[in-house]
This record gives sequence, structure tokens and C-alpha cells, in this order.
Amino acid sequence: MWKPVSVAVLTAPLVLAAPAGAQTFPTDDAVIRRIWEEGMTQRSQVLDLSQALMDSIGPRLQGAPSYDAAADWIASRYAAWGIESERHVYGTWLGWDRGHTHIDLISPRKRTLSGMMLAWSRGTDGPVEADVIMLPRFASRAELDAWLPQVRGRMVAITLPEPTCREDRSWQDHARPASLARLQEERARARSEWTASLRAIGQDFIARIEDAGAVAVFEGLWSGGWGVDKIFDASTTRIPGIHLSCEDYGLVARLAERGQSPRIRLDARADFLGDVPAYNVIGRIPGTERPNEYVLLSAHLDSWDGASGATDNGTGTVMMMEAMRLLRAAVPNPRRTILVGHWGGEEQGLIGSAAYAADHPDVMRGLNAAFNQDNGTWRVDFIRMMGFTAAGGHFARWFSAMPNELTDPIELDVPGLPESSGSDHMSFLCVPAPAFRLQSNYPDYRTYTWHTNLDTFDKVVLDDLRHNATLAAMLAYLASEDPELMSRETRELPAGPSPQAAPTRRTMAASATGAWPACRAPRRSM
Ligand SMILES: [Zn+2]
Repeated sequence: MWKPVSVAVLTAPLVLAAPAGAQTFPTDDAVIRRIWEEGMTQRSQVLDLSQALMDSIGPRLQGAPSYDAAADWIASRYAAWGIESERHVYGTWLGWDRGHTHIDLISPRKRTLSGMMLAWSRGTDGPVEADVIMLPRFASRAELDAWLPQVRGRMVAITLPEPTCREDRSWQDHARPASLARLQEERARARSEWTASLRAIGQDFIARIEDAGAVAVFEGLWSGGWGVDKIFDASTTRIPGIHLSCEDYGLVARLAERGQSPRIRLDARADFLGDVPAYNVIGRIPGTERPNEYVLLSAHLDSWDGASGATDNGTGTVMMMEAMRLLRAAVPNPRRTILVGHWGGEEQGLIGSAAYAADHPDVMRGLNAAFNQDNGTWRVDFIRMMGFTAAGGHFARWFSAMPNELTDPIELDVPGLPESSGSDHMSFLCVPAPAFRLQSNYPDYRTYTWHTNLDTFDKVVLDDLRHNATLAAMLAYLASEDPELMSRETRELPAGPSPQAAPTRRTMAASATGAWPACRAPRRSM
């Protein structure tokens, strides 16, 4: 017999992953237990937070209204949880609101093309129709000059089409070795000819195509995976810059190159909103004993907008929000002040976090540890000590107080080397202040979700997000209560490239230059 299930039953704190009794806790720290019970059971809010952020708000391009919507939503969540938050305004950015993009091939056959306007592109004034021509290979700038009159009133395909949008792995698995070799050889030759042509015509060729009266430009940028494209900002300033999917770009380019007269109807909408504030969202749980010493949880809020910004960096955003909720519930009076930074402008060069560091020397002075997350989903399984000689000892103590389910998968690189680039931890590492990247092993991240059209809610692994948020909350708690502030003594760096500095199974190389990474003055406008 069907029986309605009451809401009370649905929201009861049932354990999801492992029964609470099965989890072993190394110490009887009631706070650690409370964080676990709040973070790893059905009380977890990572599902609701992820769905609201990624589906309803969507991508969060710097300066877009959806960035503001995400910031307002975070502030409202924090207010509901009793956490204070504020905006740290560090500059201005060009406000731009993406509308819809419709791209139809209307001749020689009908097909709705898969693609979208690139960020900060001009839109069209209603639908426009035009023939498409392909940028030829040139031997000189004079050849470009002679060709340019042809672009007037036309749409121009300006990137090299791919010979295949089938991932190489598939060729390796199924093609005859000779076929794969021919593909690779022909592709390499086409790329080098294309590069030589671009070098011959100069970097301003897109501006010159605009000057010559083109209606729009089309670009492709394949990630190398099935159906996956990288989507960034427009290279045009006055006419629409449109991204086409790998094979729809290839289709249009082949039709154009073989004189089959592709004609496209384009309707691309975008609104420019003038200068808008560029800002971070900072949340705070004030410390009681040592309010001027800090623990910083950190993840960038902004994203590219080819999809939903789910793994870059919706997962980091939700992880740190949920960690703050767990801390508020379990640690009413932390010894040190616990901050969370939701940074703007990471995709424009770590500018939100760099501005925060520059504008808050007091926080940098009192920073015990920063924990940043920015590489997608899966469990955190690697933390580099970044060359801080004392960090390994602190992490060992913190880990010894945490449930083994969280710590067992994690490899600590002690003392490690400072990284040379990557994400917002660099803005603090350069001070130097102890700043760590909570890394997941995610070999397909760069091909499949990072800055792609496929970075959507379905890619999030909620079990891992619960796990990571609980881990971040425990690290923040233990770093806030640690009797000792972490020393900033750094190891002597190798003078040049060393075997230790080479990227191992991690994609991000540690600094191999022998010099500690330097802080850069943050950009404060577009
Ligand atoms: Zn990111």
C-alpha cells in the first residue's frame, strides 16, 4: 500500500555513506564528531546548494548580473546560517549580460548549429543573414590586404578547422596504426602552416577583418574530447564573436573552402551594462581568543560562461559555503577568526584574491593557513606543503585528529615546493603566507569540464563534495584551534629545474626557478 512519506522522515539525519557507528574517530573531540554528523549525513546541504547555484543562477562571468545574483545568494545563505559577510570591492569591470544565441545554417542545407557568442561580445541587432567565408592561408600581409575587401557583408571563419572531432583515444583504440599516423602528421602540418600564416599577417588581423566590414566572426576551439569545446571571451570588439562546436565549425569551414556557399542566420543578444563593481564576497566567523589571527577558506566564485561553471568552480564555492555552515553549527567560538573568500576575477588572472591580499595586510600578517580548492570534483587526495618547512608537522597533527575516511586518501607532499601558477592560493603564497591547494586527482578535468561547454551540474559527484566540505571544515577548525601559529620559514629552493620540481601525476608543476613566486599588483579594471 502506498503511504505518503512525511517531510520529517525525509529530513531526519540519516547517514548516507557509512553508518555513523562504523566511522572511527581518533580522538573524542566533540567538535570533530559534530562536523562529521552535520556534513556527512542527510543534513548535508551540498545537493541543494549545488543545484541552486549551478542550475538556477548558472555561470558567473566577472561583471555579469549572474555574478551579482550568486553573490547575493551566498550572502543570504550566510545570513540564514548566522554568518556575517560583506563585499570587498576592489575595482570595476565591464558589465555584460549574455542573452540567447541562435545560429542557423540556411544554405546549402538547413541545420541549427551548436555554438554560442563568446563572452563580452557584441550581439546582433535582431537576426542577420550572411554568407560565410574562410580565412585563407597567407604568405604575407600584402596578401591579407588584397583579400580583405571580400569580407564586407560576410561572416568570417577565422580558426583552423579540426580534421576530426573524434578523440585521439578512439583512433588509438580502433584505427589502423597507419591511419592514426597519417591523421597526426596531416594535423601537425596543417597547424604549422596555419601558425605560419597567422605570423605572416600579424596579430591585428581580426581588428582588420572588423574594419573591412565583416558581419561576424566564427571560431572553434576543440578541447580534444568527444563533443567538448573550450569557451572563453571574444576576440572581436565591434562585431559578434561566435564560437561554433568542433564539428559544426568544421562543417561550415569545409563548405566555405569548397565553394559550397554556406549562409548563416545569426541572432545573438547581449547587453553592455557599463562599468560595474568588481568584488569578492567575504564571510567571517569571528575568533574569540585570537581574533587577529586567521584561517582562510577560499574558492573563486567567478567562472567562464560556456556552461554552468559547475566544476570550475561551483564545486569549490559550494564546498567552502558548506564548510562555513558546518563550522557555524559545530564551532560557535573558534579561537582564531575563520574567513571565507569567494573571489571574483580568478579567470582574469587571480585578480580578486590578489586584491584582497593587497588590501588586507593585517589578514596576511595574521594568516595561520589558507585552504583553496579549484580543480573540480572527486575527493581531495593531494596537498602540497608548498615549501613551508613547518607545514607538514601541522598537517600531521590535524590529520591525527580527523576521521581516517577523510585523511586516508590524501597524500601530503612534504615539504614540497611552491607552485608557480594555478589558482588563488598563489595570491597568498607569494606574500609569503601559508596557503595550500586542496587537490583532487582528476585526469579528465582539463579535457572534459574545465572551461568547457560541458561544465554542468551532472558532473558533480555529491558524495565527494560532502566529503570535501567536511574535510575543509575540520581543517579550518583544527587550524583555528592550533596552539601554534604556523611558521613562515621556507625551505631552500633548488637553483634550477630538479627532478622534484617536475610535474608527477599532478598537472601543476611546482616552481622550478629557484625563486619564491612574486606577488603581482592586481588589475582593478578590465
Ligand atoms: Zn577555477
